Amino acid sequence: MSQTIDVKTHQLLIAGKQVDAASGETFDALNPATGSVIARVAKGGTEDIDRAVDAARKAFDEGPWPKLNPYERGRVLQRIADRVRERADELANLESLNTGKPIARAKGEILGAASIYEYYAGAADKFYGETLPLGGNVVNTTWREPVGVCGQIVPWNFPFSMATWKVAPALAAGCAMILKPASNTPLTALLLGEICYEAGVPEGIISVIPGPGGEIGEYMAAHPLIDKIAFTGETATGTRILKASADTIKKVSLELGGKSPNIVFADADLEKAASAAVPAAFGNSGQVCTARTRLFVGKQAYDDVMNILVDQTEQFKVGDPQQDGTLMGPVISESQWERVSSYVDIGRDEGAELVYGGVRPSAMKDGYFIQPTIFGQVSNDMRIAREEIFGPVLSVIPFEDEDDIVRQANANDYGLAGSVWTRDINKAMRVARGLRTGMVAINSNGGPGVFGPFGGYKKSGLGRELSMHGMELYTEVKNIYMDLND
Ligand code: NAD
Repeated sequence: MSQTIDVKTHQLLIAGKQVDAASGETFDALNPATGSVIARVAKGGTEDIDRAVDAARKAFDEGPWPKLNPYERGRVLQRIADRVRERADELANLESLNTGKPIARAKGEILGAASIYEYYAGAADKFYGETLPLGGNVVNTTWREPVGVCGQIVPWNFPFSMATWKVAPALAAGCAMILKPASNTPLTALLLGEICYEAGVPEGIISVIPGPGGEIGEYMAAHPLIDKIAFTGETATGTRILKASADTIKKVSLELGGKSPNIVFADADLEKAASAAVPAAFGNSGQVCTARTRLFVGKQAYDDVMNILVDQTEQFKVGDPQQDGTLMGPVISESQWERVSSYVDIGRDEGAELVYGGVRPSAMKDGYFIQPTIFGQVSNDMRIAREEIFGPVLSVIPFEDEDDIVRQANANDYGLAGSVWTRDINKAMRVARGLRTGMVAINSNGGPGVFGPFGGYKKSGLGRELSMHGMELYTEVKNIYMDLND
C-alpha cells in the first residue's frame, strides 16, 4: 500500500479560474487506507461563495448559456463525457486514493458518470413543454426554463458520481452552479470543474468550492442569490438545509439516508439471494445510501441463508484498494471507523448475535479498515436495525409471513430502497407495492441506473434525481397564454 504521493496544493475553482481561498487557508485530504496526506486543498469560506455566486449570477442573468439552443448545450455535455472517459484512469486513481474504494469499483463509477453526461447530452433538447387545447384562437404553451443559480452539496461516498448526478442535468437545463464537495473528498470534483471548462462551459457557469459544510454549505442554503439547493447527505443535514433555505423559499431537492430492507422469502433462490446480499451490504464498505442493511429472512430459510451469507462474506476480500481483486477497502475516516465500531458495541449490548466480523482485520494495521460484520437474530426495533450506520454492518432479521414483513420493513423512518426475493411473482409485486420506498428491486438488488428515477419516501428525501425526472429538478415551468382572437 506504499504508493509515493506527490502532495500537491489544489486551489478553488471560481468561474473557471484556479484561485486561493480568500482566507488563504488550506486543509489536508487524506488516504483512508493509510491515514496519510495526499493533497492540500484551499479551504473555501463564505467570501469565496459570494465570489462564485456573483460569477454564476452574471453568467446566468447575462450570459449565453441559459438561452443557448439546448442541442448545443448537449454537445458540450457530450464533450465532458468524452473527456471523463479519456481521463478515466486518472480520475479513478484519485477517487480510489481519496475514498479508499477499490480501484476497479472507482473505475466503474467514473465510466458510469461518463454515461450520465452522455444521457443528459441527449436529454438537453428532449425535455420540452406542452401545448394546451383551450379552444378558440388561443395559443397556450408551457415552457421548461432553467431554475437559475444552483448550490450543489455532495457527500464523500461517491464523490464524482454524486457531483455528476447534479452537474449533468443542471448543465443540460441551462443553469449555473456552485458545487461543494465533501471536505473529505474534494479532489475529483475539482477536476470535474476543470473538465467542464475544457469542454466549453462558459465562464461562471460552474465553480467548485471545497470547505466546511456547516459553514459554507449552510451559507449557500440561506444565500438570497441562489435559486436552488440540491443536496445529498445525511438526513440530519438535510433538515438543517431545509431550515436554512426556508426564508428565501428556495427550490430544494434532497437525497438523504436509508436503511433499506432486503426481503428473502423461504421460496426464493436462496443461493442467489444470500450471495447477492453480501455486496449489497458491504460494497463501498457499506457507505451506500441504498445499502441493503436489514436482511429479512423467512424463518424456515434462516439457517440456510445465514450459512451462505457467512461463507460468501469470508470471500469478500478486504484489503488494499489499489490492488486488483480487493472487494472492500477502509471506511472513509477515523471518525467513521469509531462510529461503525460503536454500533458493533450497541448491537452486542442490545442482545443481537455477532455472527461475523466486528473488528479491524488482522492484516490491516494502518488506515480505517473494519471487517464486514453480520449480526444475527436482530429484532427490527433494535438501534442497529433502525439507524443508518453507514458502514459494513448487516442486521439479519427473521420474519413470519407476508403481512408481518411489509409491516416490519415499513416500520422505519427511512424509505429509500428495498429488495424482494421470491419465486412467487404475484407475492413479489404485492410486497413491492406495499413498501413505502422510492425504489424496489425484485430478485435483484440493482436498479435502472441513469434511466430511472432515484430518490426516497419519508426521511430519505425530496425529489427524484437521474432520468428525465432529474431535469425537473433544474427547471421551472412557465405557462404562456396568447389570445389571438379578434
Ligand atoms: P453529510 O450530511 O455529513 O455531508 C454531506 C455534504 O453536506 C458535505 O458536502 C458536507 O460538507 C455538507 N454539509 C455538512 N453540514 C452541512 C450543513 N449544516 N449545511 C449544508 N451542508 C452541510 O453526509 P456525508 O456523511 O458526507 O454522507 C453520508 C450520508 O449521505 C449518508 O446519510 C447517506 O445515506 C447519504 N447519501 C444519500 C444518498 C442518496 O441519494 N439518498 C446518496 C449518497 C449518500
